[in-house]
Amino acid sequence: MKLVLATSNKGKVKEIKALYKEYEVIAYSELIDEFEIIEDADTFKGNALIKARAVYKSLDDEDVIVIADDSGISVDILDGKPGIYSARHAGVNANDQDNLYKLIDDIKEKDVKSSPAHYTAAIAIVTKNIERSVHGWMYGTALSETKGDGGFGYDSMFIPLEHDKTLGELDDETKNNLSHRAKALKLAKIILQTL
Ligand code: IMP
Repeated sequence: MKLVLATSNKGKVKEIKALYKEYEVIAYSELIDEFEIIEDADTFKGNALIKARAVYKSLDDEDVIVIADDSGISVDILDGKPGIYSARHAGVNANDQDNLYKLIDDIKEKDVKSSPAHYTAAIAIVTKNIERSVHGWMYGTALSETKGDGGFGYDSMFIPLEHDKTLGELDDETKNNLSHRAKALKLAKIILQTL
């Protein structure tokens, strides 16, 4: 089964490929030119569906199965921010590094060294016949510093529950056993098996 990912985020593509070894997984940018998708929903699920629908429409191949991921980190001491705005926390043109250090500064401003936090991933599946979505979560602690340089995004400032290292220090396999994305993708597999 061929799955087209409605993302060109290298970190996400790498993780999804590792977790979906039994499928042929391809980023949409390998098939058509990348284009801007306005993610203006107010939930992870809404934005995942917007991305999956936009890529499905642009591919113009009714047999394709499109998978989209919308994800982010929510920090308790920041009242759940940045949440759905994780990709643009430091501004619309911010990159992962800008967003990471902005979040670290925000936590430092609260005069704490860490805060409970969690990641959310919404995975949307769009085909000719169906639109579905599932979620996964990973709980832990967001630090006001980085440790390790593995992973992507906010990984180097996040320690998952029951671990004492950040996702930037833990290996890919460990993250892929416990992440928000892994949990959502496991549920998405159940839907894919019905197609
Ligand atoms: P999206 O591509 O619009 O879903 O944005 C996701 C944002 O959350 C990006 O800033 C990512 O770096 C961040 N993010 C999502 N999942 C992860 C993860 O597993 N680790 C680190 N950062 C993540």
